[in-house]
Amino acid sequence: MSITDEKIVNLLDSFYSSPSENLAQLRAVCEQDGVPLILRETESYLNTFLKITKPTNILEIGTAYGYSACYFATICEGAHVTTIERSPHMYEHAVPNVKSMGFEDKIDINFGDANEILEHLVDDNSPESRFDFIFIDAAKSHYREFFDRAERLAKPGATIICDNMLIHGYLTGSTVDPGRRHRTSVKRMKEFLEYLKGRKDLTISLLSCGDGLAIIKLDD
Ligand code: SAH
Ligand code: MG
Repeated sequence: MSITDEKIVNLLDSFYSSPSENLAQLRAVCEQDGVPLILRETESYLNTFLKITKPTNILEIGTAYGYSACYFATICEGAHVTTIERSPHMYEHAVPNVKSMGFEDKIDINFGDANEILEHLVDDNSPESRFDFIFIDAAKSHYREFFDRAERLAKPGATIICDNMLIHGYLTGSTVDPGRRHRTSVKRMKEFLEYLKGRKDLTISLLSCGDGLAIIKLDD
């Protein structure tokens, strides 16, 4: 369900074009299988963002079929992508997808819970191996934990982008969650937003792009 007017989404999507035939095919497979990959609108935003900021060491939390990881590897030539996925089903799809696009040397897929994997990344982390772009796109009730860990792994001046901040409009009650499936996510996301509001040391934009994006720039 879209958080904005359907006609506006259609207009925005008409500006979208896939950067490669492989990615177009993978998007189609994800959509067919009901995988919650980044929306076209989000991808369009990231396209400009990534070309302006040119990150070289990218961390992603939430791989799914590997679409966004392959997207980052395509747009940011020469960058390395570390991505984390805890679902065996998703992981088993992501591995061959990354391989078939020839990105096995550019993308490391870590299988396991992000909160655990991120602790190990902290241990191994030297200043040079810190990340300059971090994309949080996993379980919505855990964004605060992901964010805290991500911040510790980030280079000074890095950007952290969180997807699905507005949770299909359930966050504001603009749309009603029929099964109240997202009740915990909504509660925790509101807490996370309050937390971000209090972080005056960060530069934050909350955008109604896609399913809602938080663009968080750390101090240089
Ligand atoms: N970024 C992907 C979509 C990710 S969908 C893309 O745009 O192509 C969210 C994924 O996060 C799901 O596959 C889910 O299994 C995974 N996930 C949720 N919580 C997680 C956690 N705690 N650790 C690792 N992966 C998690
Ligand atoms: Mg998402």
